[in-house]
Amino acid sequence: MLNKKSVDDINVSGKKVLVRCDFNVPLDAELNITDENRLVAALPTIKKLIADGGKIILCSHLGKPKGEPKPELSLAPVAKRLSELLSKEVKFAADNNVVGDNAKAAIDAMQDGDVILLENTRYRAEETKNGEAFSKDLASIADVYVNDAFGTAHRAHCSNVGVTEFIREKGGDCAVGYLMQKEIDFLGNAVNNPERPFVAILGGAKVSSKIPVIENLLDKVDTLIIGGGMAYTFMKAHGKEVGKSLLEEDYVEYALKMEKKAEEKGVKFLIPVDTVAADDFANDANTKIISSEDDIPADMEGLDIGPESSKLFADALKGARTVVWNGPMGCFEMPNFAAGTVKVAEAMAELKDATTIIGGGDSAAACNQLGFGDKMTHISTGGGASLEFLEGKDLPGVVAADDK
Ligand code: AMP
Repeated sequence: MLNKKSVDDINVSGKKVLVRCDFNVPLDAELNITDENRLVAALPTIKKLIADGGKIILCSHLGKPKGEPKPELSLAPVAKRLSELLSKEVKFAADNNVVGDNAKAAIDAMQDGDVILLENTRYRAEETKNGEAFSKDLASIADVYVNDAFGTAHRAHCSNVGVTEFIREKGGDCAVGYLMQKEIDFLGNAVNNPERPFVAILGGAKVSSKIPVIENLLDKVDTLIIGGGMAYTFMKAHGKEVGKSLLEEDYVEYALKMEKKAEEKGVKFLIPVDTVAADDFANDANTKIISSEDDIPADMEGLDIGPESSKLFADALKGARTVVWNGPMGCFEMPNFAAGTVKVAEAMAELKDATTIIGGGDSAAACNQLGFGDKMTHISTGGGASLEFLEGKDLPGVVAADDK
């Protein structure tokens, strides 16, 4: 069990608190924020630290400035919008060195409960290399450190890993914020100590990108469901032709091995029993439902699981107490191939007394886009980080926080 110190466990009154957030938001050409979900998600931790009387110094990366100042990737628009969301000034510490003289002067002038935002941490070349100089610079401006940026937790950078060593050296706490805590509780602890039955649903484009996840989950789940583009490699392994569907020939053997491993472990292993095949990769393509007993014609490709598969998967979810889902069941971006993904989301949403966890990236996007955003116990905010958590890996950004 991961048991990390959180913002509820530390005393920040009168102290300078460096908070690593994930403010990596999309901006349009006029530098307007086009999706502020990440800002809204960061508010509970920031409000808690304000209420506790800390001097709050926020930091984040934005895009990839590659170690040098890029005005179009400045965090200035974020400070402005955060001020509105908090109904309180968030002073922007404009400083191409991130923690240069201007930022330090702004920090020196802070009162308890004040909030400032530093410039994009990736303006500094050391950031993504976890270089000591920038880690020390960051630690020099704070007494306490809080990490609330799950999206970068699978990377060891100065602002989420390197800085903790030097804060600790000063006797300061290194805690996690509420967002990180939630990711640890669900993607970390619930997946590793699940209430049973535990069902995992994997989909998306490629088997190859999900191998470590399949291997890790096979040791934990009662049922493993495979859908999406990756299912065709399994169908091929069963001796069927899959037409123009996504296929990774190099992984056909592996697919068989996984099914055998599941059998040995007593894990129920489900792949689609039918497919929605299309004559073109387009929403208005002509389609045909094809049973997995039959070959998919050479000029067609499977773009969604079929209705019988949706039923099979929904039935397999009944009675589950823990469900984790990563990867859509089909090309949900095209409405005519979203039905399988919708059915699985509906089946999850209807579960009573179950912990339902959505891995980040495309499954999170699918869930939100299809209107199931508030029906799940937890939707991860991290893409790569969420996948690595499901692979059973230690995430450097999580490891770096103090244990309780
Ligand atoms: P991943 O990032 O591996 O989870 O893949 C997500 C992507 O897989 C989404 O953009 C889906 O459109 C795509 N996808 C899911 N099923 C299929 C399929 N049957 N054929 C092609 N692409 C698919």
